[in-house]
Amino acid sequence: MEHARLPSPRWLNATVGVAGAAVVAPLVVSLTDWGSEPQARTFQELMHIPVILPTAILGLWLVLSRRDPAERRSWMFLETGFLIIAVAHAVSLAGDLRSRTPSFPTLADYLYTASLPFMVIGILLVPAAGRRRADRLKLLVDALIVVAGACMALWYLEIAPLLQIPGADVQVIAMSAAVPVLDLLLLFALVTLLLRHPDISGVVRLMSAWILLKVLTDTSYVIGLVQFGASFPANSWPFLLWSAADFLALLTVCHQLQQDDRPPVQYPKTHSFTWLPYGAIALAYGLLVFVGRNQSLYALGGMIVGAILLTGLVIARQMIAQRESHQLAVTDSLTGLSNRARLSDRIAEMTRQPPRAGRCKAVLLIDLDHFKPINDAYGHEAGDAVLKAVAVAMRAVIRAGDTAGRLGGDEFAVVLPNLPGRAAAEGIAQRLVDALRTPVVFGDLLLSVEASIGVALQDETTTNDPELLIAHADVAMYAVKRSGRGSYCVYSPELDTRAREGELRQAVANDELVVHFQPVVRLSDGVETAVEALVRWNHPTRGLLMPGAFIELAEETGVVTEMGEWVLRESCRQAAGWRRDHPQAESLLLSVNFSARQVTQAGLETTIAGILEETGFPADRLVMELTESVVLHPDEAIVARMTALRDMGVRIAVDDFGTGYAALSYLRTLPVTTLKIDRSFVTDIHTDPDAYAITEALVHLAKAFRLRVVAEGIETAEQAQRLIEMGCGYGQGYYYARPMTGSAFAERMATALEGLRG
Ligand code: C2E
Ligand code: MG
Ligand code: MG
Repeated sequence: MEHARLPSPRWLNATVGVAGAAVVAPLVVSLTDWGSEPQARTFQELMHIPVILPTAILGLWLVLSRRDPAERRSWMFLETGFLIIAVAHAVSLAGDLRSRTPSFPTLADYLYTASLPFMVIGILLVPAAGRRRADRLKLLVDALIVVAGACMALWYLEIAPLLQIPGADVQVIAMSAAVPVLDLLLLFALVTLLLRHPDISGVVRLMSAWILLKVLTDTSYVIGLVQFGASFPANSWPFLLWSAADFLALLTVCHQLQQDDRPPVQYPKTHSFTWLPYGAIALAYGLLVFVGRNQSLYALGGMIVGAILLTGLVIARQMIAQRESHQLAVTDSLTGLSNRARLSDRIAEMTRQPPRAGRCKAVLLIDLDHFKPINDAYGHEAGDAVLKAVAVAMRAVIRAGDTAGRLGGDEFAVVLPNLPGRAAAEGIAQRLVDALRTPVVFGDLLLSVEASIGVALQDETTTNDPELLIAHADVAMYAVKRSGRGSYCVYSPELDTRAREGELRQAVANDELVVHFQPVVRLSDGVETAVEALVRWNHPTRGLLMPGAFIELAEETGVVTEMGEWVLRESCRQAAGWRRDHPQAESLLLSVNFSARQVTQAGLETTIAGILEETGFPADRLVMELTESVVLHPDEAIVARMTALRDMGVRIAVDDFGTGYAALSYLRTLPVTTLKIDRSFVTDIHTDPDAYAITEALVHLAKAFRLRVVAEGIETAEQAQRLIEMGCGYGQGYYYARPMTGSAFAERMATALEGLRG
């Protein structure tokens, strides 16, 4: 469709200039007291023509030239209003020219009044950016609050006095009341307009000024008439102000004509007129208090209704605001999904009740793969775009009643509280995997991520502890990550140990293990005669882990054999290095812990021999530490293996001696060379006579078997002193040194040597 061309700016300026002069002319007339009253009235009517006529013509132009249908519709109503007003002025002028005595209401009055509803609808239809339902509701309540406040003021100032005019004609009263009521609607429309437009543009500002001036003039005119019985001669201030209002309408049309004809696109976040409802409340209640001082309640009529309405509206508004702030507290601002807090709530809520028979519930944890590289390479905006796209995809997959949320970073979760069964959960997980594989368009880039999804189901047989459920989903998710990503996995108990086992195996393969060394000293002179190798795990996320955190699992899963080999090789390698660099390290013994699993392993002796060969560490400097549980029931193979090792020169120590309450017979069958008395005996040696007596007995026992004896866990000088007293040869503990890195130990040897030389 071809649209009308715009009028030239010069033409527009000229029109506005003429109209402006027509507005000012009656003022001049009234100041100079020109002519008789009817003449002045006719002149005044005449001067309306250059204002209203161009408004109506340009309004028509606007309707024809607008491409945006919403805007056209709004201007169609406004234009209808302008046309009616133009006709009203013409009719009024004709009446004046025929010099009929003015009576109220005339045809022109009816026409003016009839134009108002069109104006109201036109303003209500002024297009604004799209809004969510909640916002529209809030807007409506805000506007109603303003209008209710104004309604009370109008009741008090106009309508109530009008109703009380004695003997007045019903038609007169109806017409007189219609204008204030329609003005009220106009005000309502204006307030919604202001509330809908966060940044008040030129057009909206002009339109507001026009409507406000018009409403104020109407109101003050009626109040003047009914409250104060004032009469208004031609060209007096209400007429001048009405002209000015019409002029503002013309300016609005002109301004709109020069505006780009494009609907707004940005969604408004906050608007600067949020205080309006509160202003109205203050005004209304202020008025009520003021009036209530000296009037009976009955006379207040509409004001009481207004106050009740207003209070209800304020409460509604407050509730909406509250819901909104709650909404804000539980949503993730970037994606609009639920945040961590709401997800936790939903999971807790879900697990509180057991699932109905035949139904199940599920938690899905989703971690994006390859997200970090996108963030690093293309910046946070690209990352944000991906996260938003993920949220859209998730929303498309889940159903009402389910909750999708973002836990933070690139971690998401879905809570499915009502599923027909496991297959349904798997179906949703698979659909999410597929949906999240779709690449995201960002500028001219195609960014692709994948998702690893862990599923934890809750049915009659599984946990109903929310934390545990999440932990299970986490375990399942890591299982996916390990097995190649971009897929989902449902938690099962085996996964737990398997997950940790896999992690442990990787730790060995990825060199995440480290060996620390703790010196063993000769108690008589404090000379360090041995070091014990103690393994640690430098975990990528949990930091440095002590053996207590992983040795048991390593034993259970068998990882301990690989781990033990690694520790032996690594400690022999380092110790061989010390032997090369420090002469006093030549006599140093290296103690390495061996687990039960390792000892039962066929071919252990060959493995050890191989490692000694490879690292160049002498067999007769190596001590194998075995715990009592290993040596308790040695089978023939173990005895043979140990004997073979002993024949190679390797020494064998019994670790944690005394804790197994074992028969001592093994000390004769196995080629043991050393006993390490467990720390638990040493701890109380200086305070508890029993502990002293037992330790002493253990020391004597070791001597009876001609074994070297080492006391573990010496923490004080007193403990050391007692052990020396009872003839214990060697000791190890924090009192002498804590376990340290290999390089720290080498340095320690170097300084000790310097000390000797000095
Ligand atoms: P263990 O072989 O009896 O090692 C002595 C433990 O006592 C070490 O703990 C050491 O740090 C700690 N300790 C030493 N002096 C003191 C002291 O004065 N006070 C106290 N409170 N503790 C002291 P760590 O390093 O945590 O090792 C714990 C156990 O883990 C070891 O006990 C050993 O059974 C096992 N382990 C360590 N490394 C390995 C290994 O490579 N393979 C195997 N199979 N087990 C290992
Ligand atoms: Mg040990
Ligand atoms: Mg020990």
